[in-house]
Amino acid sequence: MLFIVTPASAAGDVALMLDGSEIVCDTAPVIDRGRTLVPVRALFESLGAEVGWDPAEKLVSVSYSNTAVHLVIGKKTARVNGKDVAMDVPAAILPGNRTYIPVRFVAESLGFGVDWDDSSRTVLLRTPEGLEDDPTVIESISCSTEDGVVRTAVAYTGAGPDCRTAAYESPDRFVVDVRNAQVNAGAVAGGSGTIPGDNAAFSQIRYSQFEERTVRIVFDLTQRKTAELTVDAAEGYLYIDFADPEAAEGGETADEPEGEDSDETTGIDIPALDWRMSGQRIVIDAGHGGKDSGCLVVDSGVTYYEKDFNLKIAQALEKYLIEAGAKTYMLRTHDVTLTLQERPVLANELGADLFLSIHNNSAEYPTAKGSQVFYYSKATEENYAVDSKDLAEYILEELLQGIGLADRGIASQGAYAVLNKTDMPAVIVEGGFFSNPEDRAVMLGPDYTDLYARSVARAVVLCLNEAAARMED
Ligand SMILES: [Zn+2]
Repeated sequence: MLFIVTPASAAGDVALMLDGSEIVCDTAPVIDRGRTLVPVRALFESLGAEVGWDPAEKLVSVSYSNTAVHLVIGKKTARVNGKDVAMDVPAAILPGNRTYIPVRFVAESLGFGVDWDDSSRTVLLRTPEGLEDDPTVIESISCSTEDGVVRTAVAYTGAGPDCRTAAYESPDRFVVDVRNAQVNAGAVAGGSGTIPGDNAAFSQIRYSQFEERTVRIVFDLTQRKTAELTVDAAEGYLYIDFADPEAAEGGETADEPEGEDSDETTGIDIPALDWRMSGQRIVIDAGHGGKDSGCLVVDSGVTYYEKDFNLKIAQALEKYLIEAGAKTYMLRTHDVTLTLQERPVLANELGADLFLSIHNNSAEYPTAKGSQVFYYSKATEENYAVDSKDLAEYILEELLQGIGLADRGIASQGAYAVLNKTDMPAVIVEGGFFSNPEDRAVMLGPDYTDLYARSVARAVVLCLNEAAARMED
């Protein structure tokens, strides 16, 4: 469960758009004396700002980039970077016990563009023009083989490299795009060229200033394999490693826990992942954990916690994805607290290509039921192999087939941090409702974890494989 959402479009209310995408807040914006007030946390956290609240002082703080705005409930004077500034209407506590602040005043103070579209009653927000970082400057590229690993060392200066990878067929090649980067044409002959590869992985490397701010490094493969990228920031190296072609792949079944119900699998076929997608980093986020239990289920006097279900499902999902040939990262592997802000930060730092957040649902009324998938299509997704809406559709389809609960549909949800602060395509999967008797009977049943995990694994592989098939150059 996340929280109950009331769309802003109810009865003449005001909508919010950021860079063309709607932001859905958990409580609707309101208008006071001609100014739009918005629930501060839902909106400003989805803009990427930090929001703080000091109940003793009734003080709201919102900070973004180099600007901090402080507002006191009921006071018409705000402080912007320590200076007093007058407002038309003060911040307020409004129904739902939420803190509302005037959107135009605060957003403009933080550098956002703010427009008002009267016909659709929409506040249009624009992210401030980015302050471009220093570029990554590629100084040299060399390769060597050690213990069967073919390592390409890319020496760089300036900003740490921001890389996207892809693999293509006919001819087989692996591509690393380093963004916000340039080749040091003085150091690397002419700024582009080829390096012969006398090794088991590729016949040559080609590199060039592919676009104004993108350096493309292409490996012409002699075997269908993707590489692992690591950055040594201290030494200023990006390493691109092709593992030993002789080493067995996917042969790590020995450390899987045997017995229990692991062999009573539920027969959902998970195809092998296309080799071109084997380098995609799939982050699996077991929802909640530690102090945050998610929703509670009491059944026959026993209390269950959503966080425990989510973790078991996430672990099974990881197992199935690895078996299919995927590369996975678990954000938590045991019962530990991770905030909603930390999860996207971790995934972004990992350079993840896909983010799967595993949840189960609950509602106040027992009639709510079924499987649902949330997504949020961000501009940053364009750089990735799949988009979150396609992935959400694949996952819902497989859940409905696999588990057989009611179809609650897919929904765009811009207010959730794991969806809007992740750079990569991200989805939140809600398997079913513990609060609904029929759903609960299935969810507490013996096959639920396996059905859920297999359905999601199958959907992810199908979606990535279709993306691979589309990638004709
Ligand atoms: Zn949840």
